[in-house]
Amino acid sequence: MKAFQLVRPGAMGELRSVAQPAPGQGEVLIKVGGAGLCHSDLHFMHGDFAHVPYLNDNVPFTLGHEPAGWVEAVGAGVHGFERGQPVIVYPIFGCGHCAACHAGLDHRCQVHAASGPALGLGVNGALAEYMLVKSARQLLPLGDLDPRQAAPLTDAALTPYHAIRRNLQRLRPGATVVVIGVGGLGQMAVQLLSVLSPARIVAVDRSADKLAAARALGAAATVVADAEASRALRDATRGQRADLVIDLVGVDATLKLAASSVAAGGRIEVIGVAGGKLDWSFARLALEASIGSSYWGTPTELREIVALAQAGRIGTRVERFTLDDTARAYGLLEAGQIEGRAVVTPHG
Ligand SMILES: [Zn+2]
Ligand SMILES: [Zn+2]
Repeated sequence: MKAFQLVRPGAMGELRSVAQPAPGQGEVLIKVGGAGLCHSDLHFMHGDFAHVPYLNDNVPFTLGHEPAGWVEAVGAGVHGFERGQPVIVYPIFGCGHCAACHAGLDHRCQVHAASGPALGLGVNGALAEYMLVKSARQLLPLGDLDPRQAAPLTDAALTPYHAIRRNLQRLRPGATVVVIGVGGLGQMAVQLLSVLSPARIVAVDRSADKLAAARALGAAATVVADAEASRALRDATRGQRADLVIDLVGVDATLKLAASSVAAGGRIEVIGVAGGKLDWSFARLALEASIGSSYWGTPTELREIVALAQAGRIGTRVERFTLDDTARAYGLLEAGQIEGRAVVTPHG
């Protein structure tokens, strides 16, 4: 079968011919419906993660960490799933027995963190015709949802959902939330905030098209990310600082913008993995404001997101590509020319 693999960190992935896997005990083979393309893959292909052993030592491996599809075959001991059933795949392999996994926080599993924590991250992922899932625990039935449309829920929705959900107590009526970077994840963040909170949403991006999309999805105000962004953001927040800032870019400039716009007691959630740095000292942020990373999400949160999508409360904007067109699709993503999310659909 065909698979798009990271062969050499620092170089564009390659479409290769690989053996189709067969499910062993407890495993499930998925016919891939959709595999969303993520900006973080571009970082791997630029070699920005040379310090992460599993991305460098495990090559070649199939990229693609936003999977959904149909059950193709189940291994011995797997019950409750049948061939042809549409499923979404929680991409992270929790060991199931560490303290984090016992708490349902598989994304913090330390046992698998060093060896390849998720599909498409050091282990074969979804950019292939078929994909092996280690455990049926990673599968959630999609019901009426189309896997090709649902795939981005596993990262583009789950990642901002995790960051938003743990800050919902800040987002009371009259609160302000700033979303920096409204590409695939940022547009989802705006949708989720609109559904989950009464806070006023302000979107920041370089692209006028993406800002227009954010406005259509529920942003009350938008700010162009240029040299004047800090002042424009103060105007857009009506002089109030933000109770929550979500930085989906994570470069020096966006971290600085986030730091200058967070309110006393507010929170900055950094999702973007661009590796920017921010000087911190006691008085650098507003009093008692905090900053930290937010990484992916939990199986329970994915279940909640699927419920929101099934209820029609959130939706994905998807641009479809064939497996043969994967490199071109990454090129468009890199050039900022994907509206919503690029999804590779290996079976059409
Ligand atoms: Zn991702
Ligand atoms: Zn674990």
